[in-house]
Amino acid sequence: NRLLLEAKLRYALQNEELTLHYQPIVAVDTGTVQGFEALLRWQPSESDSIPPSTFVPVAEQCGLIVPISVWVLKTACLEAATWRQSYPADPPLYVAINISAKHFSHVGFIGHVKDALQESGVDPQCIAIELTETLAMNDVAATGQTMSQLRSLGVKLSIDDFGTGYSSLSYLRRFPVDTLKIDQSFVKTMDAENYAIVTTIVGLAHNLELKVVAEGVETTDQHQLLALAGCGSAQGYLFAEPMPAKNIGIFIESNRRNSGQVKRIGLARSAAAP
Ligand code: C2E
Ligand code: MG
Ligand code: MG
Repeated sequence: NRLLLEAKLRYALQNEELTLHYQPIVAVDTGTVQGFEALLRWQPSESDSIPPSTFVPVAEQCGLIVPISVWVLKTACLEAATWRQSYPADPPLYVAINISAKHFSHVGFIGHVKDALQESGVDPQCIAIELTETLAMNDVAATGQTMSQLRSLGVKLSIDDFGTGYSSLSYLRRFPVDTLKIDQSFVKTMDAENYAIVTTIVGLAHNLELKVVAEGVETTDQHQLLALAGCGSAQGYLFAEPMPAKNIGIFIESNRRNSGQVKRIGLARSAAAP
């Protein structure tokens, strides 16, 4: 099955079966859109769509992740470059791009980022690279060097699925990280224990002057608790599902009409912490 999937994936990359969808990241207090996360989608012509959780690990095993990820970088940077003019905002809208540890530690990675920046002309500050906590983080020297090179290009760095990986907290001090993304498993069931974890991550982020984004927000209760915890940004089906690039304009227009009104949550006094 893996070999078959690998062959299909190779075909998919060459025949434009891969696309990117974009999921809004919004301010928790006002609902205003701040940026979008680019998420890979694969729709083979003769079968059902295949989720990234299935094909990304296969791509990582067979080395296809590098050309796929180079394509993701280029496509997402080109898309984000159009937002500055079409949807000016202060600060400007950013795109978050998932990078596999396999690509991050590849010798060509920084060159690939430079190429994508140059070809698209996007402001590097509008690019956030999302990296999950992995064992690669334990190779302190190499990881730190790549992160510093990203920083000197002006690109931001987020730690994805924070709280689920293997790494030690000390990398937050040693590496130039900008944002922590709270894993959706903590947000999904916000019982007393998970709420305690969420508030602790938010506190940690604030004390280290990092931004924090909660993932997988599906209900208004979760939204209210995140506001109460002081979490700055969020993404999830409550706000919007990942959408094709062509729908972004309509989403932004309706978001601008509504933000500050419908979605204003503030520190909901009525929401009692679990
Ligand atoms: P991730 O980066 O943590 O992305 C968040 C996942 O949560 C996405 O799944 C998104 O569609 C999903 N999600 C968003 N809001 C909600 C919600 O309210 N409820 C629930 N239950 N899920 C929500 P998706 O698109 O299936 O991607 C899964 C993972 O695949 C991503 O996790 C990321 O690790 C990986 N991935 C996706 N695109 C890329 C890519 O371009 N490159 C690499 N290397 N990995 C990617
Ligand atoms: Mg991500
Ligand atoms: Mg995540």
